[in-house]
Amino acid sequence: MDYWRRWGRLGKQAQLWKKYKVQDGKLVREVVFCPRCGEGYIMADHGDRYYCGHCHYTQFKTEKK
Ligand SMILES: [Zn+2]
Repeated sequence: MDYWRRWGRLGKQAQLWKKYKVQDGKLVREVVFCPRCGEGYIMADHGDRYYCGHCHYTQFKTEKK
């Protein structure tokens, strides 16, 4: 769980904890990190796609049903 410490440095993004949920006793990450910028750069959820405000990368959600 190394990224917990990494998140600790991102105090201003503390509100992002709301995007975590507990599932079967474990914290599940619901946010998506930018594949270009790497972990720590969280992509904004725009309904049908994710958008990175850092490099403007857009990733469309793919339905998996
Ligand atoms: Zn990015």
